[in-house]
Amino acid sequence: MRWLMDGHDVVLRDAVFDLMASSELFHLKKVGEQLYVGPDYNEPFHVQREMTMKRIFFLRDKGLFKGWLTDNGQEVAYKKLAIQETFGIFDHSLAIKNGVHFQLWGGAIQFLGTKRHHDKWLQATEDYVVKGCFAMTELGHGSNVRGIETVTTYDSSTQEFIINTPCESAQKYWIGGAAEHATHTVVFSQLHINGRSEGVHAFIAQVRDDQGRICSGVRIADCGHKIGLNGVDNGRLWFDNLRIPRENLLNSVADVTEEGLYVSSIKEPEQRFGAFMAPLTGGRVTIAVGAIFQAKLGLQTAIRYALTRRAFSLSPNEPEVLLLDYPSHQRRLLPLLAKTYAMSFAANDLKDVYVKRTPSDAKIIHVLSSGYKAMFFMAQIFEHSRSVVKLVVDRV
Ligand SMILES: Cc1cc2nc3c(=O)[nH]c(=O)nc-3n(C[C@H](O)[C@H](O)[C@H](O)COP(=O)(O)OP(=O)(O)OC[C@H]3O[C@@H](n4cnc5c(N)ncnc54)[C@H](O)[C@@H]3O)c2cc1C
Repeated sequence: MRWLMDGHDVVLRDAVFDLMASSELFHLKKVGEQLYVGPDYNEPFHVQREMTMKRIFFLRDKGLFKGWLTDNGQEVAYKKLAIQETFGIFDHSLAIKNGVHFQLWGGAIQFLGTKRHHDKWLQATEDYVVKGCFAMTELGHGSNVRGIETVTTYDSSTQEFIINTPCESAQKYWIGGAAEHATHTVVFSQLHINGRSEGVHAFIAQVRDDQGRICSGVRIADCGHKIGLNGVDNGRLWFDNLRIPRENLLNSVADVTEEGLYVSSIKEPEQRFGAFMAPLTGGRVTIAVGAIFQAKLGLQTAIRYALTRRAFSLSPNEPEVLLLDYPSHQRRLLPLLAKTYAMSFAANDLKDVYVKRTPSDAKIIHVLSSGYKAMFFMAQIFEHSRSVVKLVVDRV
């Protein structure tokens, strides 16, 4: 059944889990001979963040991320998905922190950059020589990316772009990796050239030096403790007329010449904006798929408990009844179990379309990943957790 549900790389998934279990970095506790593998959610959030980073470096040193950005083959693409899903079972923070670095920062360089960016950044990202984040969302604009207020202008006398946060609502907000670890970020910003707005574009900016000190022209604040995902350091970013080289514009869609002339092969601003959203697709696919593994974890706990715990006998001489033999219990858990199977198969289908994609698949991938993300995520958050919580409340 696991071969069917996981769909691919089952042996690899087990090997990755064994690798994690082999290191103390992944141990929660040992009781007698029983070893518990898992994160400690009771640690302060700074400790949880440091543990996530140490775990990533351990996995990097074991060669787990080899080829993630430099090999575009389908085999690596499936492996990446399997490994990210295994990380998600261990701890959502591990999957998200690594996903932001590889899929958002790395994906932006892959999809929005050209050879000069690929040569400079992809291997360094794969090796975690640079730690990347992805600064799109602002305090004032989230879903509506087109409305972001960060402004970038060009100075032809020095051939530099100047990135500025013009008001408080333009601060970059919720940026994963920004609060403590990131050295670089992709900044999404309005590009103003010769007084004309050319819409949202993406730029590479360094935010910390190799000693972890914040660069001048950048301010960073911490989003602090969250109700979950505390192993990820989400932060806020402001740019005070930060100057970056002209080459740091990710220019697969549009470019600015040395003299300050705006050039783009895509004339229609609407289509240009769509092209800039490309790096979000990989993340959307993995977030949709990842939600199913969270649902599986919750259901596994609830169902296993219901198959062990007994409560009340029907008559004095009979054993107590298993929780899962109560129809009320079955009615709450089993439809969710069935739904999780269905979501699993749908997710495998989406992954196949995504990994084997051709340019003409872009629309269907966008539609499926957006729909599944909303459906799987909401199913997991609202239906599963509500039912499992309700079961506990019913019992009390
Ligand atoms: C833990 C975490 C990590 C994050 N990491 C990053 C990161 O690394 N980089 C980054 O750039 N961003 C990051 N984000 C930000 C995330 O991308 C935004 O939260 C998201 O885009 C939504 O934007 P918003 O929070 O401003 O909500 P809003 O856009 O203000 O939406 C508010 C509500 O209105 C609804 N809504 C909005 N528009 C519509 C519409 N047209 N029709 C119907 N309903 C609508 C939304 O569904 C939502 O319920 C992160 C967020 C979180 C919570």
